[in-house]
Amino acid sequence: MGARRGEQVIQRLKEQPPEIWHRGAKIADITTEPGFANGVKSLAELYDVQWADPAVMLFTDETGQQIGRSHLIARSAEDVRSIGDMMLRWSEHTFGMMGRSPDYLNRAMAGYAGGADFLATQDPKFAENARRYHVLLSHEDLCLTHTLIHPQANRALPVSQQADPFLGARIKVETDAGIVIKGARMLATLPISDEIMVFPSTLLRAVEEDAPYAYGFAIPNNTPGLKFICRETVDYGRNHYDHPLGSRFEELDAVVVFDDVFVPWERVFLYRDVKVCNDAYAATGAIVNMSHQVVCKDIAKTEFILGLASLMVEAIGVEKIQHIHEKIAEVWVNLEAMKAFRRAAEADCALNAYGVMMPAWDPLDAARNLYPRLYPRMVEIIQQLGASGLVAMPTWADVHGPLAEDVLRYYQSARLEAAERIPLFRLAWDAAVSAFGTRQVLYERFFFGDPVRMAGAIFEKKDRSRQMDMVRAFIKRSVDEAEG
Ligand SMILES: Cc1cc2nc3c(=O)[nH]c(=O)nc-3n(C[C@H](O)[C@H](O)[C@H](O)COP(=O)(O)OP(=O)(O)OC[C@H]3O[C@@H](n4cnc5c(N)ncnc54)[C@H](O)[C@@H]3O)c2cc1C
Repeated sequence: MGARRGEQVIQRLKEQPPEIWHRGAKIADITTEPGFANGVKSLAELYDVQWADPAVMLFTDETGQQIGRSHLIARSAEDVRSIGDMMLRWSEHTFGMMGRSPDYLNRAMAGYAGGADFLATQDPKFAENARRYHVLLSHEDLCLTHTLIHPQANRALPVSQQADPFLGARIKVETDAGIVIKGARMLATLPISDEIMVFPSTLLRAVEEDAPYAYGFAIPNNTPGLKFICRETVDYGRNHYDHPLGSRFEELDAVVVFDDVFVPWERVFLYRDVKVCNDAYAATGAIVNMSHQVVCKDIAKTEFILGLASLMVEAIGVEKIQHIHEKIAEVWVNLEAMKAFRRAAEADCALNAYGVMMPAWDPLDAARNLYPRLYPRMVEIIQQLGASGLVAMPTWADVHGPLAEDVLRYYQSARLEAAERIPLFRLAWDAAVSAFGTRQVLYERFFFGDPVRMAGAIFEKKDRSRQMDMVRAFIKRSVDEAEG
């Protein structure tokens, strides 16, 4: 089939719906359900964007089909750069507010398939499964969600020592045909999708008790027994004027319950080998590819914040105040930093052990550790710039209601009529104050992992010996010179 269009995305979600629960009820049709339908529409638009600019968004594979570029296993520096261009284009469409656009997990699967030889260290059939699944995913242009971690019950104990051994999703039965999984996993952003990747991320201990929690597989979201318990939607069901971001880009998040879910062997990529499971994310290159998508999303999102903040400053005439300059400059520096990380990662790309061209890891690792601090600060800047303007904010109904004359008079600003100022400040409110905006901050803080433990990984793994030697040598020189 090749790259899909939006209409096909919606049709498939209607025909093969995931079992999504929201506010205590099972949703019959997520493509029409209030609170969900707008997110589905934006997701579908991304697939139409592919066809609006095929030279950037698609490539032709060896079978002659046009495939979404985010599925490409890169073989050259040009491939890497072109994938970055494609991902930036998608992120620009949602201003980075749908962080979980399908390219994120397309890049993960391209990583697992490109580095499939690593999976073969356990069993060659797992490598074959990953390669075959990547072909299926790219040719059908499916949209994935994923879940990596175990429920947040008692973080002081490993998953195998929780009060209930089936709290964290666990292998229950193994048969000739496949495995049966029971338990729960967190946290699937974009449950409004076709299939789910269930992969290890949180480190398991190399002990027999942890082995039943060690696996990697992908299955359709409508597999019997698979349930998504969705958080309450942050799309308030309002119009685009009142709720410009939340009424478009609600991607949703869900806890995933596996109620004796059957996974056929051909969909299994990792199985019971704790060490292979713990290493797979990094060793295959999946994490590098995903981080490449993330830095492109960060660029689009920061550009949006810079534009928004600048318009607010201009609107209310605070452009002569020094601390305002400092804040706008801070956002601009963040944008240039993200662009530089992307450029460095692409410029320093190199072939990995499996012959796949990978963006350089260190600039991407730096970006993914930095942005969880930058984004909350930029939202704080929007709040500091907007002040009471972020709550003095009438709705479409007010603007067109009995008090319209008052509204149009009292909500004007230095350079904007009320009719222009109100939608600008509603947008700022949605980015920085609404439930949608607050969830974005939480997302940026945590979606790629706990920032504390990510920093711990940098401390442990990054080689700092050259810098230590340099300082040691300088100290020695100072001591030697003092001693004459
Ligand atoms: C909006 C959002 C979307 C997400 N989307 C996805 C998704 O699509 N797929 C997916 O798999 N995951 C997703 N996640 C989950 C994300 O991977 C986790 O939030 C992240 O790994 C942190 O784990 P946790 O939330 O369980 O926090 P916890 O591990 O429970 O941590 C809670 C607090 O305790 C501290 N803490 C706990 N244990 C330790 C420790 N050992 N050392 C130091 N500090 C510790 C943490 O620093 C934190 O402050 C999402 C999260 C959010 C918020």
